[in-house]
Amino acid sequence: MIENFTYINADFPWFFAVFSFIFGATVGSFLNVCIYRIPAERSVVFPGSTCACGKPIAWYNNIPILTWVFLRGRASCCGEKFSARYPAIELLTAVLFYASWVMHPPVVAMIGFLFIAFLICSTFIDLDHMIIPDRFSIGGMLIGVLLSILFPSLQGVEGQPIIANIESGVHSIIGALIGAGLVYWIAVLGEIVFRKPAMGEGDVKFVGFIGAFCGWQGAVFAMFGGAFIGTLILLPVLLLGRIFGWKQRGGTSGSEAAEEE
Ligand SMILES: [Zn+2]
Repeated sequence: MIENFTYINADFPWFFAVFSFIFGATVGSFLNVCIYRIPAERSVVFPGSTCACGKPIAWYNNIPILTWVFLRGRASCCGEKFSARYPAIELLTAVLFYASWVMHPPVVAMIGFLFIAFLICSTFIDLDHMIIPDRFSIGGMLIGVLLSILFPSLQGVEGQPIIANIESGVHSIIGALIGAGLVYWIAVLGEIVFRKPAMGEGDVKFVGFIGAFCGWQGAVFAMFGGAFIGTLILLPVLLLGRIFGWKQRGGTSGSEAAEEE
């Protein structure tokens, strides 16, 4: 099995790369369901996908990314409009799974799949409802520590089995503590400076989760790199908004997510 895998991977390097993209799109389709149903405390497995009109969606009308493109964003049963966010999340997951596969050794890449799925799910639930469920932040943190102990290569640790396992676990715990601690102190300072809560408890746990998977360097990068990239994207948008007088769309967009499930 492992030999077959190594053989295919060596001779057809594109095979698993393409597979990871398709797999990512499929997982992304499932994440759309999770993002919509988990905050509503409904099962993500049952019942299957139904349209807003109540009709079940046939499998051939539920193919990630492609269905939306072929049907031009409308349901085949009733012509109801589907948000472009669904294919966007599928495409995002596909691209990130592909990137994880080509950038990391197989085991780390597959742990990356799980990490990416957790990240996307919590990000969009946070956008819709301004909450990050504990099962993603705290649950993710525990899974990150556990996977680091089981697979030291996740934290870039090599060497004697048991020692490497312990070392990797320690790296992960330190990552979680530094990640969570950093956000906690930024939140405290932000509150002193701006006199209003800058970040929530959810963000503290969330960056702790990132640290558990990526180590403390990853958590620091997620914090400052994320803020930097966010500013790069947000500044032009705000500026253009000023110039063209776009209205700010405030509040949550939870109701928009009700179009498909
Ligand atoms: Zn319909």
